[in-house]
Amino acid sequence: MQSFSIKKWVPWFLPLVLVFWFFGKKPSEPSVEQVHSTTRLAMGTLVTVSTWGVKGPSEEKAVDRVFTRISQIESLASRQDKSSPVYKINHAPTKKTWPVPEELATIVQKGLEIKKISHGAFDPGLVFLLDLWGFANGVPDVGKIPESQAISSWLENRKNHLEEGIRVEKSPDGTYTLQLDDVSFALDLGAIAKGYALDKAMETMKQAGVANALIIGGGDMVIAGSKGGKPWRIGIQHPRDHDKIMAFSEIVGDMSMATSGDYERFFMVDGERQHHILDPETGRPSRSGLISVSIQAKEGMLADALSTAVFVMGMEKGKAFIEKWEGIEGMLVAENGERWKSVGFKGQWLDGP
Ligand code: FAD
Ligand code: MG
Repeated sequence: MQSFSIKKWVPWFLPLVLVFWFFGKKPSEPSVEQVHSTTRLAMGTLVTVSTWGVKGPSEEKAVDRVFTRISQIESLASRQDKSSPVYKINHAPTKKTWPVPEELATIVQKGLEIKKISHGAFDPGLVFLLDLWGFANGVPDVGKIPESQAISSWLENRKNHLEEGIRVEKSPDGTYTLQLDDVSFALDLGAIAKGYALDKAMETMKQAGVANALIIGGGDMVIAGSKGGKPWRIGIQHPRDHDKIMAFSEIVGDMSMATSGDYERFFMVDGERQHHILDPETGRPSRSGLISVSIQAKEGMLADALSTAVFVMGMEKGKAFIEKWEGIEGMLVAENGERWKSVGFKGQWLDGP
C-alpha cells in the first residue's frame, strides 16, 4: 500500500513562479508617473496587469478591457468550463467534426506545430492522461498513482494514432473545424492558451494607448516598453526554495517569458514528486531531470508552450533545441544542481552572471 503525503501545496493560484519587485519608494503624489498594478483570478491562476504612467480613467479602462479579453479566451480554451468549445469537443463522441472559432483553431494549430517540432514532447491532447494522474482541474485532486495498465493502454492508443489524433481544418469559406480521432486525444491547452491570452491582453493594452506594461499570469509574462526608461525587473522563483529568487531579468521593450516548473502542481508519493508536466512518451510526470525552464521569445504563446516542451526534453536536448531556433532563449535548472542559460537570455543568476 503506497503511503503518500501531500506536501503543503503551493497555493496553486499564487503565481509563485515569477515575482517582480520594484526598486525605490513609490512617490505618493498621484500625478507622478509610477507603476499601477491590478491583480485578478483568471485561467486558474492570478493575473497581474502593471502599467507605467500617471493613473487615470483611460488607463483603468484599458486594464478592464484587458481582463475582458483574457476571459474571452478563457471561455474558448478552458477544459473546466462546461460552456467552452474545448469542453464540448472533449465530451462528444470522437470523429465528430465541430465548427470552432478561428482563435481556438489558431491555438490548437500552433500546439500541433509545436508537437511536431518538439517530437511529441509537447502535446495538446493529454487530457486523458492528466485526468488519470488526478490533474483534472490543474491541481491534483487525488494523490494517487494510476494503474500501469491504464497508462500502457493510453500509450498504445497514442502510438496507433500519432499522426492524426487531433485535426484542425480550414473550410473553403474560411471557417474552421476541429475533430478528435480518439477520446484519448482530448484537448488540454493548459501549456499554451495562457501564453496566447497574455499576447492578446497586451495587444488590447496597446490598442487602448498604453505603451508601457507588464502582464503576468502564473508562470508566464508579456512585457512592453519600460518604467519611464528604466527596465522592468523580474525575479525567477527558486524551484526548491519558495522564499527565494534564483535569477532576475531586466527588460525594456517587447518580449515574453514563460517558466515551467515541477514545483507548482504536484503531490509526493513515497518521497517521489508526481508533478503536472507529463512526458507523453512514458505517460508519467517527466523525469527529464529538469526542475525549472524559463523561455524568452517574442510571442507569449510560443514561450509558454516551449517552456513545457523543453522541460520534457531535458538538459541536453533542451539546450540543442534552444540553440537551434532563432529568437528563442532559455534558462534551464536541473535537479542535480546543473544550470545553463543561452547566450542571448536576458537575465542573470542571483549569485553571479
Ligand atoms: P506549463 O508548463 O505551461 O503547463 C503545464 C500544464 O500543461 C499542465 O497543467 C497540463 O495542463 C498541461 N501539460 C502537462 N504536460 C504537458 C505536455 N507534455 N505538453 C502539453 N501540455 C502539457 N487551472 C485550474 O486549476 N482551474 C481552472 O479553472 C483553470 N482554467 C484554465 C483555463 C485556461 C484557458 C487555461 C489556459 C488554463 C487553465 N487552468 C486552470 C490551468 C492552469 O492555469 C495552467 O495550466 C497551469 O497554471 C499550468 O500552467 P503553467 O504555465 O504553470 O505550466
Ligand atoms: Mg506555461
